[in-house]
Amino acid sequence: MNNRISALMKFIENYVGVDGAKVFRALFESDKELSYNDIITKTGLDEQTVRRVLYELNELGLVMYRRIQSAEDGRFIYYWTVNSYGINQVLLNRKRLVFEKLKIRLDHEERTTFFLCINDGIRLTFDEALELDFRCPKCSSILVQEDRNPYAEVLREVVSKLAKEIEDERKLVSS
Ligand SMILES: [Zn+2]
Repeated sequence: MNNRISALMKFIENYVGVDGAKVFRALFESDKELSYNDIITKTGLDEQTVRRVLYELNELGLVMYRRIQSAEDGRFIYYWTVNSYGINQVLLNRKRLVFEKLKIRLDHEERTTFFLCINDGIRLTFDEALELDFRCPKCSSILVQEDRNPYAEVLREVVSKLAKEIEDERKLVSS
């Protein structure tokens, strides 16, 4: 399983639970549509659970179904598959959330002046350092102003990489 799919499985586990992940995995790994009975056999879950998680996965746009009316008794049979479009959309939205969070952190790092203790690597914001009269809370030596923010540099790189990925994927999903 690649990174994208393991990120998706994690998302499903969070929102639909372990059973949801099990059902999704069964559909994902199958090369044909699956009926309720197929899914029950493959996952070992009971029918009620399978119906509930399929409903939730469908609400999230991660699976879809085809409905066929039985010629014998007129009952509907549902055939389920993964919804590739929905999967891409969910992954893209998830990435956007991460992007927004990192941008806020980057913004904070860029707008804050940090002070360091050379002895034990303690890193404080200006306000925190001011509170302590610019002395290290651990060893009492004088704090020095950080001249180059290594966290901001790393964050900036990740944020711009994500921005590019999101743009590429957005084009892919909407094409
Ligand atoms: Zn110190």
